[in-house]
Amino acid sequence: MFPLFSYYGRTLLSSLMFLLLFLSRPSSPARLFPPDQEVSVVTTTTSSDDTRKNATWHDFTRFLDAVKGSHVAGMSDLKEYFRRFGYLPPFSNTNFTDNFDSDLEAAVLLYQTKLGLPITGKLDSDTITSIMSPRCGVSDRDSTAARDDQEHEDHDQVHDTRHFAYFYGKPRWQRRSPMTLSYAFSPTDVVKYLSKTDIRSVFRRSFSRWSAVIPVKFRETEEYSSADIKIGFYKGDHGDGEPFDGVLGVLAHAFSPENGRFHLDAAESWAVDLGRDKSKAAIDLESVATHEIGHVLGLGHSAVKDAVMYPSLSPRTMKVDLIIDDVRGVQALYGSNPNFKISSLFHAPPRASSFNYNQSFSPPLPSLLSLFSILSFSFFLSFFFFLHIHL
Ligand SMILES: [Zn+2]
Ligand SMILES: [Zn+2]
Repeated sequence: MFPLFSYYGRTLLSSLMFLLLFLSRPSSPARLFPPDQEVSVVTTTTSSDDTRKNATWHDFTRFLDAVKGSHVAGMSDLKEYFRRFGYLPPFSNTNFTDNFDSDLEAAVLLYQTKLGLPITGKLDSDTITSIMSPRCGVSDRDSTAARDDQEHEDHDQVHDTRHFAYFYGKPRWQRRSPMTLSYAFSPTDVVKYLSKTDIRSVFRRSFSRWSAVIPVKFRETEEYSSADIKIGFYKGDHGDGEPFDGVLGVLAHAFSPENGRFHLDAAESWAVDLGRDKSKAAIDLESVATHEIGHVLGLGHSAVKDAVMYPSLSPRTMKVDLIIDDVRGVQALYGSNPNFKISSLFHAPPRASSFNYNQSFSPPLPSLLSLFSILSFSFFLSFFFFLHIHL
């Protein structure tokens, strides 16, 4: 009976079963772009976003895989980007060519080093993705690396490489201890779609992350003109020589101590709850606030991707937890909060220091395929068992 399912039939079915199992394996295909910096996020805008000017660097994809000696139309824009963020001399020739010359190669190498990317000197996908990602407006040139800084000796057994940085001259707020810095929101430079209550709670949480690790307290005040830290939302050119550029691109900037100016680009889709705000270009206010407070305190940009002080932040991404690099950097300036134990960072339950809300929207395709393969496997197993009994 059923000669088809004798030897050849079993072989055929076994092969089919293995094929199904192979196809349904939750795999990680080679990604052109890392998961938390999906380029589609930058280039895709909602219908309401379409009506607004988008001044991002999304068309830099055309430089992908360009190497020294290449000539690609518009390469001068990329050179302008590198000059803007401190990778080409600020006063270099304004008439950039579209040639991938040795100056550009040096800029790419330096950029890859400072952003913690694979150092290839080429415009590979990691580099292009990073360049296209929205970021802080503070130039990476303004930071001086602290890797050789020996004054912060740790006594735990953790070997680390320091990637945090300071502004030149290592400025910090000079106040008598215990230090309290006041902050206030501009009464006029606001975004209307966020409530004052929401903004205040976001900033309260952001400041408290820093005050938990250093002996500095922050106090909100209504006296904007006399506050140490002055926070406001600004559009385009707002008088400090660092104009904002519309949706995405540059998100915010803050000045080194003891300046206290803290500016956010009013053109962004600022979100206080990414679970509620579905805009694809939404930028998490709390993540940016926590980052810019780091600048206000004197930190420059870190090369550690998970650090709050890393210069870029993808839309729909939350990154608010200080990691050891951020903590060591700020403690080297202000000392440690006596209530804070660095070991708490190691013994805390593992959690992602950043969370991309896009991931929660992706269909659970691998899971469905796995389920399908398990069901198929069970079916074939039962079928074999049946054949074994009846043949
Ligand atoms: Zn920054
Ligand atoms: Zn500004």
